[in-house]
Amino acid sequence: MMNNDKKANQSIQCTVDQCEYHCQNQDYCSLDCIKVGTHEANPTVEECTDCESFQVKQ
Ligand code: SF4
Repeated sequence: MMNNDKKANQSIQCTVDQCEYHCQNQDYCSLDCIKVGTHEANPTVEECTDCESFQVKQ
């Protein structure tokens, strides 16, 4: 997919430019909606949270 096919969702800021859904020239996600979760039993800091919509860029 070309980068300019993606439309930045101004409601979802993201700096993970290794993700397929990242709008490369802008720090936004292109999805309409994302899912955030945790890999911890008792999350205490932001590092405990994950974007579960992440897909590695091919
Ligand atoms: S899916 Fe998640 S990690 Fe990927 S660009 Fe959107 S917010 Fe960022």
